[in-house]
Amino acid sequence: MKTLYVFDNDGTLYDDAGTQKQFMEIFYRYASGLLATSQENVATIIHSLKTKHGTEFSLIALMREFNINYEDMVNNTYLQVTLGECGIVSPDIVRYQTLSQIIGPKVVFTNNPSAFAKKVLSYTGLTELFSDFIGMEELEFSGKPSIRSFEIIENHHRGFDQIIFVDDLVKNLDVAKQRGWKTVWYNPIGVSTELEHRHLFISSFGELLKVT
Ligand SMILES: [Mg+2]
Repeated sequence: MKTLYVFDNDGTLYDDAGTQKQFMEIFYRYASGLLATSQENVATIIHSLKTKHGTEFSLIALMREFNINYEDMVNNTYLQVTLGECGIVSPDIVRYQTLSQIIGPKVVFTNNPSAFAKKVLSYTGLTELFSDFIGMEELEFSGKPSIRSFEIIENHHRGFDQIIFVDDLVKNLDVAKQRGWKTVWYNPIGVSTELEHRHLFISSFGELLKVT
Protein backbone atom coordinates (compact mmCIF):
# COMPACT_ATOMS: atom_id res chain seq x y z
CA MET A 1 0.00 0.00 0.00
CA LYS A 2 1.41 3.39 -1.01
CA THR A 3 1.19 5.74 1.93
CA LEU A 4 1.86 9.47 2.14
CA TYR A 5 2.72 10.77 5.60
CA VAL A 6 1.67 14.33 6.36
CA PHE A 7 2.87 16.17 9.44
CA ASP A 8 1.86 19.38 11.10
CA ASN A 9 4.96 21.28 12.24
CA ASP A 10 4.25 23.53 15.24
CA GLY A 11 3.45 21.53 18.36
CA THR A 12 3.88 18.26 16.48
CA LEU A 13 7.40 18.12 15.06
CA TYR A 14 8.71 20.33 17.87
CA ASP A 15 7.47 21.96 21.07
CA ASP A 16 6.43 25.41 19.90
CA ALA A 17 5.66 27.10 23.27
CA GLY A 18 8.89 29.12 23.17
CA THR A 19 8.67 30.15 19.52
CA GLN A 20 5.03 31.19 19.92
CA LYS A 21 5.89 33.49 22.80
CA GLN A 22 8.86 35.07 21.01
CA PHE A 23 6.95 35.34 17.76
CA MET A 24 4.10 37.21 19.44
CA GLU A 25 6.54 39.76 20.86
CA ILE A 26 8.13 40.28 17.44
CA PHE A 27 4.76 40.38 15.72
CA TYR A 28 3.26 42.95 18.09
CA ARG A 29 6.28 45.19 17.65
CA TYR A 30 6.10 44.83 13.87
CA ALA A 31 2.32 45.36 13.70
CA SER A 32 2.42 48.35 15.99
CA GLY A 33 4.95 50.02 13.68
CA LEU A 34 2.88 49.22 10.63
CA LEU A 35 -0.38 50.37 12.18
CA ALA A 36 1.32 53.37 13.80
CA THR A 37 -0.33 52.61 17.10
CA SER A 38 0.64 51.37 20.55
CA GLN A 39 1.10 47.63 21.11
CA GLU A 40 -1.98 47.71 23.40
CA ASN A 41 -4.19 48.69 20.44
CA VAL A 42 -2.82 46.13 18.01
CA ALA A 43 -5.10 43.22 18.99
CA THR A 44 -8.31 45.25 18.57
CA ILE A 45 -7.29 46.66 15.19
CA ILE A 46 -6.14 43.29 13.90
CA HIS A 47 -9.39 41.72 15.00
CA SER A 48 -11.35 44.10 12.78
CA LEU A 49 -8.88 43.70 9.90
CA LYS A 50 -9.38 39.92 10.02
CA THR A 51 -13.12 40.42 9.55
CA LYS A 52 -12.57 42.99 6.82
CA HIS A 53 -10.25 40.72 4.84
CA GLY A 54 -12.01 37.43 5.59
CA THR A 55 -9.13 35.64 7.26
CA GLU A 56 -8.50 34.24 10.72
CA PHE A 57 -4.77 34.86 10.37
CA SER A 58 -3.31 38.11 11.69
CA LEU A 59 -0.36 38.21 9.32
CA ILE A 60 -2.61 37.78 6.29
CA ALA A 61 -5.00 40.48 7.51
CA LEU A 62 -2.05 42.90 7.70
CA MET A 63 -0.64 41.74 4.39
CA ARG A 64 -3.94 42.46 2.63
CA GLU A 65 -4.58 45.74 4.42
CA PHE A 66 -1.18 47.20 3.56
CA ASN A 67 -0.58 45.26 0.35
CA ILE A 68 2.72 43.93 1.69
CA ASN A 69 4.74 41.19 0.10
CA TYR A 70 4.35 38.00 2.17
CA GLU A 71 8.02 37.17 1.96
CA ASP A 72 8.96 40.59 3.37
CA MET A 73 6.57 40.08 6.27
CA VAL A 74 7.98 36.65 6.98
CA ASN A 75 11.53 38.01 6.92
CA ASN A 76 10.57 40.74 9.38
CA THR A 77 8.66 38.47 11.77
CA TYR A 78 9.00 34.67 11.70
CA LEU A 79 12.56 34.61 10.52
CA GLN A 80 13.54 37.00 13.32
CA VAL A 81 12.78 34.33 15.95
CA THR A 82 15.95 33.16 17.69
CA LEU A 83 15.39 29.41 17.93
CA GLY A 84 18.25 28.93 20.37
CA GLU A 85 16.24 30.86 22.97
CA CYS A 86 13.04 28.86 22.55
CA GLY A 87 13.79 25.68 24.47
CA ILE A 88 13.59 23.43 21.40
CA VAL A 89 15.32 20.04 21.56
CA SER A 90 18.26 20.14 19.13
CA PRO A 91 19.16 17.78 17.65
CA ASP A 92 15.87 15.95 18.14
CA ILE A 93 17.08 12.35 18.28
CA VAL A 94 13.71 10.83 19.26
CA ARG A 95 11.87 12.32 16.30
CA TYR A 96 14.76 11.64 13.93
CA GLN A 97 14.87 7.96 14.85
CA THR A 98 11.09 7.60 14.79
CA LEU A 99 10.65 9.30 11.43
CA SER A 100 13.60 7.41 9.92
CA GLN A 101 11.82 4.13 10.60
CA ILE A 102 8.69 5.19 8.77
CA ILE A 103 9.15 4.20 5.16
CA GLY A 104 7.43 6.43 2.63
CA PRO A 105 7.38 10.06 1.60
CA LYS A 106 6.79 12.55 4.39
CA VAL A 107 5.63 16.11 3.92
CA VAL A 108 5.16 19.07 6.23
CA PHE A 109 1.73 20.76 6.22
CA THR A 110 1.83 23.99 8.22
CA ASN A 111 -0.13 27.22 8.56
CA ASN A 112 3.13 29.01 9.19
CA PRO A 113 5.47 30.02 6.35
CA SER A 114 7.31 27.07 4.80
CA ALA A 115 10.53 29.10 5.22
CA PHE A 116 9.96 29.08 8.97
CA ALA A 117 9.23 25.33 9.01
CA LYS A 118 12.48 24.73 7.14
CA LYS A 119 14.35 26.90 9.61
CA VAL A 120 12.96 24.98 12.60
CA LEU A 121 13.50 21.56 11.06
CA SER A 122 17.02 22.47 10.10
CA TYR A 123 17.61 23.47 13.72
CA THR A 124 16.25 20.15 15.02
CA GLY A 125 18.08 18.14 12.35
CA LEU A 126 14.97 16.73 10.65
CA THR A 127 14.92 18.55 7.28
CA GLU A 128 16.35 15.69 5.23
CA LEU A 129 13.49 13.40 6.30
CA PHE A 130 10.88 15.47 4.44
CA SER A 131 10.37 15.69 0.70
CA ASP A 132 8.01 18.67 0.67
CA PHE A 133 7.17 21.68 2.83
CA ILE A 134 3.73 23.12 2.28
CA GLY A 135 3.16 26.31 4.26
CA MET A 136 0.75 29.22 4.22
CA GLU A 137 1.99 30.60 0.90
CA GLU A 138 1.76 27.22 -0.85
CA LEU A 139 -1.71 26.81 0.68
CA GLU A 140 -2.79 29.95 -1.22
CA PHE A 141 -3.30 31.54 2.22
CA SER A 142 -6.23 29.24 2.96
CA GLY A 143 -4.67 27.39 5.90
CA LYS A 144 -5.90 24.46 8.00
CA PRO A 145 -8.65 23.57 8.72
CA SER A 146 -10.08 24.95 5.46
CA ILE A 147 -11.04 22.21 3.02
CA ARG A 148 -9.07 24.01 0.31
CA SER A 149 -5.82 23.46 2.21
CA PHE A 150 -6.39 19.68 2.33
CA GLU A 151 -7.24 19.66 -1.38
CA ILE A 152 -3.93 21.38 -2.11
CA ILE A 153 -2.03 18.61 -0.32
CA GLU A 154 -3.96 15.96 -2.25
CA ASN A 155 -3.33 17.74 -5.56
CA HIS A 156 0.39 18.12 -4.87
CA HIS A 157 0.73 14.44 -3.98
CA ARG A 158 -1.33 12.13 -6.14
CA GLY A 159 -1.31 8.36 -6.52
CA PHE A 160 -1.30 7.30 -2.88
CA ASP A 161 -3.58 4.60 -1.44
CA GLN A 162 -3.74 6.33 1.90
CA ILE A 163 -2.68 9.52 3.66
CA ILE A 164 -1.67 9.40 7.31
CA PHE A 165 -1.86 12.80 9.00
CA VAL A 166 -0.36 13.72 12.36
CA ASP A 167 -1.39 16.99 14.03
CA ASP A 168 -1.80 18.33 17.55
CA LEU A 169 -5.08 20.15 16.76
CA VAL A 170 -8.28 18.13 16.65
CA LYS A 171 -10.10 20.67 14.44
CA ASN A 172 -7.55 19.96 11.70
CA LEU A 173 -7.77 16.19 12.16
CA ASP A 174 -11.58 16.26 11.98
CA VAL A 175 -11.51 17.78 8.47
CA ALA A 176 -8.82 15.34 7.35
CA LYS A 177 -10.84 12.40 8.62
CA GLN A 178 -13.89 13.56 6.67
CA ARG A 179 -11.71 13.41 3.55
CA GLY A 180 -10.75 9.82 4.28
CA TRP A 181 -7.29 10.52 5.67
CA LYS A 182 -6.07 8.35 8.53
CA THR A 183 -5.63 10.71 11.47
CA VAL A 184 -3.24 10.63 14.41
CA TRP A 185 -3.68 13.07 17.28
CA TYR A 186 -0.39 13.96 18.93
CA ASN A 187 -1.14 15.31 22.38
CA PRO A 188 1.78 15.15 24.80
CA ILE A 189 -0.37 16.18 27.79
CA GLY A 190 -3.25 13.70 27.80
CA VAL A 191 -6.44 12.68 26.05
CA SER A 192 -10.20 12.62 26.44
CA THR A 193 -11.90 9.24 26.01
CA GLU A 194 -14.36 10.54 23.46
CA LEU A 195 -11.63 11.77 21.12
CA GLU A 196 -9.69 8.53 21.39
CA HIS A 197 -12.32 6.91 19.22
CA ARG A 198 -12.31 9.61 16.57
CA HIS A 199 -8.57 9.66 15.94
CA LEU A 200 -5.62 7.45 16.67
CA PHE A 201 -3.82 8.88 19.65
CA ILE A 202 -0.20 9.23 20.72
CA SER A 203 1.16 11.07 23.74
CA SER A 204 4.82 10.60 22.87
CA PHE A 205 6.28 10.92 19.39
CA GLY A 206 7.91 7.47 19.48
CA GLU A 207 4.46 5.86 19.74
CA LEU A 208 3.89 6.83 16.14
CA LEU A 209 5.60 3.59 15.13
CA LYS A 210 2.91 1.58 16.91
CA VAL A 211 -0.05 3.23 15.20
CA THR A 212 1.18 3.66 11.62
MG1 LIG B 1 0.22 22.38 15.43
